[in-house]
Amino acid sequence: MKEGLAPMGEEYLQLLQEGFDNRWIDVYENQGKRSGAYSWGAYGSHPYVLLNFHGTLNDVFTLAHEMGHSLHSWYSDHSQPFTYAGYKIFVAEVASTCNEALLIRHLLKKASGKEEKAYLLNHFLERLPGDRIQTDHVCRV
Ligand SMILES: [Zn+2]
Repeated sequence: MKEGLAPMGEEYLQLLQEGFDNRWIDVYENQGKRSGAYSWGAYGSHPYVLLNFHGTLNDVFTLAHEMGHSLHSWYSDHSQPFTYAGYKIFVAEVASTCNEALLIRHLLKKASGKEEKAYLLNHFLERLPGDRIQTDHVCRV
């Protein structure tokens, strides 16, 4: 995922690593934990990500997506006063979807053959928003 997001620049990657190293992410399933994935936080603190990670390709895309929300929030909070730091859901999905697009681009470049590329493209297409609703994907800003 980090290789795929490299076009975002060194500062972005360092912030991503800061999130990994400093427990911004609740990674695994646990008793009583809700399903799905989302990013949340409060102005003045770093964002938090809830995942239910099993190590699948879908989980890696979900992590890239949610970290897109988190880093977007982090940059917004650090660039704007409280009054202006919030944003609409449509804008939020640009950052998360951008991360997914960078990840699929990277994975397609690394794919060893036609079948692997077909698998990746199919997986990516199945993640389109309409499918997310049907498969109980929870995505909150
Ligand atoms: Zn989202």
